[in-house]
Amino acid sequence: MEADRKLIEIVRSSEKEMVSSLSEMISIPAIGPESSGEGEYDRAEFLVSLLRENGITSIESCDAPDKKAKKGRRPNIIATLGSGKPFLWVISHMDTVPAGDRSLWKTDPFNALVKNGKLYGRGSEDNGQSLIASLYAARAALQSGTTPSIKLAFVSDEELGSEKGITYVASKNKFARGDEFLVPDAGSRTGDQIEIAEKHSLWARIRTEGVQTHASMPNTGVNAKVAASRFLVFIRDYLYSRYSAVDSLFNPVPYSTFEPTRQMANVDNVNTIPGTDEFYIDSRILPSYNINKILSDVRSIAEVFTRQTGAKISVDVFRKSVAAGPTSKDSLISVKTAEAIRRVRGIEPMFVGIGGGTCANIVRSKGFQAAVWSTEDGMAHQPNEYSVVKNMVADAEVMASMFVS
Ligand SMILES: [Zn+2]
Repeated sequence: MEADRKLIEIVRSSEKEMVSSLSEMISIPAIGPESSGEGEYDRAEFLVSLLRENGITSIESCDAPDKKAKKGRRPNIIATLGSGKPFLWVISHMDTVPAGDRSLWKTDPFNALVKNGKLYGRGSEDNGQSLIASLYAARAALQSGTTPSIKLAFVSDEELGSEKGITYVASKNKFARGDEFLVPDAGSRTGDQIEIAEKHSLWARIRTEGVQTHASMPNTGVNAKVAASRFLVFIRDYLYSRYSAVDSLFNPVPYSTFEPTRQMANVDNVNTIPGTDEFYIDSRILPSYNINKILSDVRSIAEVFTRQTGAKISVDVFRKSVAAGPTSKDSLISVKTAEAIRRVRGIEPMFVGIGGGTCANIVRSKGFQAAVWSTEDGMAHQPNEYSVVKNMVADAEVMASMFVS
């Protein structure tokens, strides 16, 4: 306990440095090429120097090639302390989503501003807060005289599926038997939730082909928007009622969700009946269901609507992620995380499942145990995203305690 108190003092005394490191990181955008960004190269360069400046010098690059990104690669950084066997990995992601509608931002999303204990900027909470916390937690452990066996992984491409991020790292056999994984990329406002399970996710694209015509002569065409709208309303109701199982581990949404989301533009003028329509459905499905069975259900219903409406409705998979088996509450990483939260925070954590997807799913699919934990206000992807500075420091305290225990 005495050792923990000293460690926590060290973490707390680095608050100013944490704030300035996070601010500097935010000013270097790291948006993937699929979202019209250059990728994570510049941010990775900054983080490598930040690690070195803080005495963490065993740094390995595991960059995935990507012609569309700056320098033709998507950087993945692995910083190692100690000799391992096993290692505790902390995986956070460098990339962010774009700022979105700038008019909704009260500050410059790429020029961090601290106000009332909150640090505003794109990527501040998702996932900058945890990334910086893990780095300073590692430094605190070193300063306290302990060299923990840990690996800090700063990965790319999390926002668009992780293929060039943690999936690439995993494919290079970087994980060893017995390694444990903390993914600080989701959590509750009080830091009392440890995520051990995720839902399947299925993003489907629905294309409808009718016949374009003049709006005054609907009899000469097939209105794709009407056909698509009929299908949209039916399929949403159908999926919610057909796949309605409840699993209380998943909190706060204990059931599967099926939501129409993006709508692509169709005609530019009011007096044309659109001949095509395209929209997307974002589904988050309890792991007990078979995702392919759901997909084939949606396709057969699309065929029925094709016959009824005369417009051809087709369904394809835009992105699909199958949920790996959950991490046990009794696994070493679950127990260690819970103990550190109790020890440092004095609160009783609970184990939950979530609908969002994190790097933990990929780690779990490789047969490893991973816990997802952090303290956050849920500002990911929102305008005026912020990180609560106290949360960043408090999470670094818990991580540091895990590192030395
Ligand atoms: Zn994230």
